Amino acid sequence: MYNITTIAGDGIGKEVINAGIAILDHLDLNINYIEAEAGLETFEKTGTTIPEETVKSAKKSDATLFGAITSVAGEKSPILRLRKSLDLYCNLRPVKSFNGTKSIKPNIDFLIIRENTEGLYCQVESLYENEAIAQRQITRKASERISKFGFEIAKKYNKKSVSCIHKANVLKLTDGLFKESFYKIAKNYPDINANDYYVDAMAMFLVTKPKEFDVIVTTNLFGDILSDEAAGLVGGLGLLPSGNIGDKNGLFEPVHGSAPDIAGKNISNPVATILSIAMMLDFLKEEYVANKIQIAVENVLKHGKIQTPDLGGTNKTNEMTTEIIKELD
Ligand code: ATP
Ligand code: MG
Repeated sequence: MYNITTIAGDGIGKEVINAGIAILDHLDLNINYIEAEAGLETFEKTGTTIPEETVKSAKKSDATLFGAITSVAGEKSPILRLRKSLDLYCNLRPVKSFNGTKSIKPNIDFLIIRENTEGLYCQVESLYENEAIAQRQITRKASERISKFGFEIAKKYNKKSVSCIHKANVLKLTDGLFKESFYKIAKNYPDINANDYYVDAMAMFLVTKPKEFDVIVTTNLFGDILSDEAAGLVGGLGLLPSGNIGDKNGLFEPVHGSAPDIAGKNISNPVATILSIAMMLDFLKEEYVANKIQIAVENVLKHGKIQTPDLGGTNKTNEMTTEIIKELD
């Protein structure tokens, strides 16, 4: 039996999590759900954006499924809190163009692996009279473990190459260490091609030759920027899943936010969340079911019979979910 913490959150978070649970309920899995709270509504009720019980529950569970939250200015970000408390050091974003959807480039299929715990996100900033300085922390430990994650995933999915993205020509010490750690780990994977690119060049290559990449490993801020660029390439926030993964825990969420403009209308696209669930099942070593969901979603998108408004159709969230369930059968 799996214990899964669900955090629906705000806005369309609730609709997409319900859709995701409908999919899970349809599969032959033994899941115990623990509902937990976070976000704006939680803040209005309790005065905190993420109660301690939510963190505890996520820590104890086999995995966490996160919807979306509306952020509260000046308050702790629930997702940052969870990443830190659960040591979710890897942010994994599959970038894939689906047949039947408007992708800027066809046949794209790569993974972005972003280091999630340090870099420019260590939030150590100092303000002086006429200048402000931000620290950028790169450790050997974090650089090696994210590189290892990249090579392991390449091995698991039979990917040919892993690319390290950095700016070591300018950030000689920090990115120098990141790059050195990457190539040290690469030695343990002689069958996988290890290479590296400057982040500025990579920003261009994602547009000019995205098909050439398999697995991309990079530091926190570069990963943040490149993954949004990649999202733009395959088009459609409603389709993109993500995972925040550590050695003991995993939290899975759609890339999109709470989209208050369309909340409560039953028109949000549940696919990003359903694909996040496939990632979660893969993490739980339920690869067979994960793959089944992935294929069902791809088929529904390809047929294009049922499409939510973001995909150009007029169907509702629940119609899309039902169609994916039919395809699963
Ligand atoms: P937040 O502040 O929570 O990030 P946001 O208004 O920035 O909310 P996002 O979810 O980031 O909203 O998405 C931006 C826009 O993309 C939304 O306003 C919505 O119109 C569209 N969108 C996002 N996710 C979906 C989805 N799952 N289905 C359909 N449209 C979506
Ligand atoms: Mg947003």
